[in-house]
Amino acid sequence: MQIDLPTLMIAGSFVSAVSGVFLIFAAMQTKSASGMVWWASANLTMAAAVPLLAFHSEIAPNMPSVVVAITLLNISPALIWASAQACDNRRVDIGVVGAGAALWLLAYTIPAVRETPDLQIALNLSFASVYIFAAAREFWRGRDDRLSARWPLIVLLILHGMFSAGGAVAAMVGTLSPIGSTTLLTWIGFVHFETLAFIVGTSIFTVAMARERQELMHKITASTDSLTGLATRRAFYEEGATIIAMARETGTPVSVILFDLDGFKAINDTYGHGPGDEVLKAFGRAVSKVLRSSDLVGRIGGEEFAALLPNAGIEAAYVVGERTRVAFTTACRSIGDFNATVSAGVARAEPGQSLDSLIKVADQALYRAKSRGRNRVEVAGKAPPVPTQAPTTTPAPTRAVEEKVA
Ligand code: GH3
Ligand code: MG
Ligand code: MG
Repeated sequence: MQIDLPTLMIAGSFVSAVSGVFLIFAAMQTKSASGMVWWASANLTMAAAVPLLAFHSEIAPNMPSVVVAITLLNISPALIWASAQACDNRRVDIGVVGAGAALWLLAYTIPAVRETPDLQIALNLSFASVYIFAAAREFWRGRDDRLSARWPLIVLLILHGMFSAGGAVAAMVGTLSPIGSTTLLTWIGFVHFETLAFIVGTSIFTVAMARERQELMHKITASTDSLTGLATRRAFYEEGATIIAMARETGTPVSVILFDLDGFKAINDTYGHGPGDEVLKAFGRAVSKVLRSSDLVGRIGGEEFAALLPNAGIEAAYVVGERTRVAFTTACRSIGDFNATVSAGVARAEPGQSLDSLIKVADQALYRAKSRGRNRVEVAGKAPPVPTQAPTTTPAPTRAVEEKVA
């Protein structure tokens, strides 16, 4: 099948322009949109370059229109590289974006390059492939965020980089003829279709990735308590149910610790809500330091927290509760003159027990800790397996707080 290259080039330019407008429209609807704006500018640059190249004899019969077109064709992949960096919130180095075009213009001052169109095309496609492979590398670097739209972008970029590099080699050996008509089975014939797929595919997946990232951010915001950075009540119960189900499947122990800050209303009344919030944050930091990364901790009420410890029996959970109690009081002393304390109740899940019911059992232990004088950890059911330490590591509440608690 014969295909007419100028027609294909104009179709490519049109698709590039539409994709550029689509990306700008999508960017206006998204918060972190700079990646899409960079990619839109790459597509619009490409859209402008192609007619200049295809119709330079009609538009401007002298050489500068070709030089401008090829310079724009050099800038377009560099803008894609810039987009790849901006998509992952990295700083875009404008100098590097312009380096390819600057090198191309420098090369054009050499008579041998100026008089050899194949060499110009080879240089252009070489620079393009370097930027395109570099863009694929940038997307690869950010892969830890697990955004699924990242992978088709990497594949499309690698394929496009390979086609560009192949074209550079073909131009060097003189087997590339970018004018007139050809068949689909030649490199120059097929690459136009590959370019169309690249422009459309990358535009769709760039938008998809930005949307995915926005959804992920919303999810993280909804599941993270803004004051302490711990899980929200809802996230704690959702993730906790999964941990309990997994422990049931594997037959491993799982324990819960319920924490309730002591006399917190009095702290608020004495020092104000601002310092009260600082105490809550201090608890968040203290408990996070004590827990393992596999443990789950959430703020399940105003000054109430819960920690779920997979692979932990009652004794291990008791030790974690004690360490948190001490760490919290120490942390409070370092942020101000707060002698704040916390009480905790510990319970181990029975086989088949739900999270709700486990928390109720731990709550009874917590109630006992409160009624036995606060600033202590109590274990559900029997007496604690490890003797409760006298709170020598933690001072008594300040007089003001003590009076209000009583
Ligand atoms: P107890 O030792 O029996 O637990 O006494 P308590 O004063 O800690 O318990 P109570 O339930 O009477 O008071 C809890 C207080 O926590 C009341 C509420 O104003 C305060 N609180 C809840 N959420 C927040 C918050 O986000 N910031 C601040 N500063 N205070 C909060
Ligand atoms: Mg409470
Ligand atoms: Mg309390």
